[in-house]
Amino acid sequence: MSQGFDPNALRDKYSRERQRRLRDDGIDQYVEVAGRFARFAHDPWANPGFTRKPLFDEVDVAIVGAGFGGLLTGARLRELGVASIRLIDKAADVGGTWYWNRYPGIACDVESYVYMPLLEELDYVPPEKYAKGPEIFAHCQHIARHYDLYSDACLQTEVTEIRWDPSVSRWVITTHRGDAIRARFVSLANGYLQKPKLPGIAGIDQFSGRTFHTSRWDYDYTGADLTRLADQRVGIIGTGATAIQCVPRLAEAAGHLYVFQRTPSTVDVRGNQPTDPRWAAELEPGWQQRRMENFQILTAGGHSDEDLVDDAWTSLTKTLPIVSGDGPVDQSARAELADFAKMEQIRGRIDALVTDPGTAEALKPWYGYFCKRPCFHDEYLQAFNRDNVTLVDTRGRGVEQVTSSGAVVNGVEYALEALIFATGFEVGTDYCRRTGFEVIGRDGVSLTEKWADGVRTFHGLHVSGFPNCFIESIAQSGFTVNFPYLIDTQARHVAWVIAEALRREVAALEVTAEAEQGWVDAVVARSDVIAGRRETCTPGYYNREGHASARLRQDSFFFGSPTEYSDILAAWRESGTLEGFTLTR
Ligand code: NDP
Repeated sequence: MSQGFDPNALRDKYSRERQRRLRDDGIDQYVEVAGRFARFAHDPWANPGFTRKPLFDEVDVAIVGAGFGGLLTGARLRELGVASIRLIDKAADVGGTWYWNRYPGIACDVESYVYMPLLEELDYVPPEKYAKGPEIFAHCQHIARHYDLYSDACLQTEVTEIRWDPSVSRWVITTHRGDAIRARFVSLANGYLQKPKLPGIAGIDQFSGRTFHTSRWDYDYTGADLTRLADQRVGIIGTGATAIQCVPRLAEAAGHLYVFQRTPSTVDVRGNQPTDPRWAAELEPGWQQRRMENFQILTAGGHSDEDLVDDAWTSLTKTLPIVSGDGPVDQSARAELADFAKMEQIRGRIDALVTDPGTAEALKPWYGYFCKRPCFHDEYLQAFNRDNVTLVDTRGRGVEQVTSSGAVVNGVEYALEALIFATGFEVGTDYCRRTGFEVIGRDGVSLTEKWADGVRTFHGLHVSGFPNCFIESIAQSGFTVNFPYLIDTQARHVAWVIAEALRREVAALEVTAEAEQGWVDAVVARSDVIAGRRETCTPGYYNREGHASARLRQDSFFFGSPTEYSDILAAWRESGTLEGFTLTR
């Protein structure tokens, strides 16, 4: 007990809390946003009257998805001189995550100088250490303008199918606007958390008040400044990274706010600050890549004598690695104690900031620190000190029922005029269900069939049977907490392979089944590093709601030392041999 806590008591407590939250139905507890729930994915930002003539033309590269993935791939292609590029996105603008998510309080909790890509290329230094959502969205638009990616883009365009036509070695992309666009190469940059999900709570479609998902904020109802909520009883379901950011704003605006909690998040110090103009003026060329790599090393299990970002992420991961650079996550007694100590500090912060002892107790998380996405905020916990805010703790069970007039927990109905779902995005469902379209490869085999038993790629990008196709996703790609770092690693690689194939006049380039198998084997073997955590952690989207499976190992990251994934891709490009590919001229 010298450290101020009893490890055995904490182990027991964590185990009991996990048990309480565990459900047999795993990821099937969520309902798909489709059919009668399709309105939850309706685009509130698009022009509903938009029309255009269908396209039947050809481009060199079609990129599906105009978020950071599509934008960075387009940018890197432009830098290599590729002219014929078309971005396709169902949204009415570029931006992806930052197009859809416009909830009040939206910001990014990874430092802006490492999160926002292409800062040097665009000669831009963000005004604050942590950027707000509108600034990041504007930055996406700036990238599109700078690299001329708006011209020829097809926005408000939903892809319905992508099919390889072997007779002409082209992909044919069909869309809901009647297009049949041919492309030599396709890059699928559909994002990672792109499809909103809803909890399968009994009566969820019975609610007669206003209801929407945080990624489709209903400003018509709330008002741009939320003032229309002043006399409203508002409920929000979910306490993940999204809710942490919007609860303080809702708390200020709503007549009464009910926060329905299933599992509390860890909420650590934020400490945003304005950018020091003297620091910005002294930045030397190459500064952003160096800073991104330094952050990557420190947050992905490596060591560096310097800590350029020096924030809650890096101070944490220096003492408590998420993954160890040498392989297995360190499950040693020392690491476990460090984790307990960190969580005690997180729980202590709640006691220090939340005045009502019962509310403070209910806000305390009881699990290993990296079992869930860590959160950072300086106003979230304090919001529960307001008289107009009630924490409704469901003690791991979730909201029992939704009625026409409210939500029920422990048999008590909370009357509401509005119910907001901060319930996150699909993880673990089939790739094509999440993207909304099927990809049909060389032999008429669909990607869903190909991946029926788990993701299969080479380098986390190429799939045997799917020539000239790149799938940019986190599955089988290098681990990071700073996704634009991974996205840019992949974008540079995809752009290089395409430019090289065009230069060498290769008609079709396809990874061999052997190369693919080798990568899949490596991913499965390396995913041992987090096997223990998957078994013992509180359920959530990191561990398939507590039902870890063989498939989860295969669909996981390509774990390794912090920059190993990008180093492997760079070395492969360097060799210039296109090893592992079959080329057709
Ligand atoms: P999450 O999936 O993280 O959270 C969903 C929330 O809904 C959880 O609190 C979950 O509880 C709760 N929930 C689900 N079903 C029920 C139910 N039946 N009853 C009550 N509660 C329920 O989604 P978010 O949108 O918050 O975040 C998604 C991801 O987006 C984050 O993990 C992060 O990666 C990213 N993000 C990043 C930000 C940044 O600043 N970089 C900001 C916002 C999001 P439970 O925990 O028990 O499952």
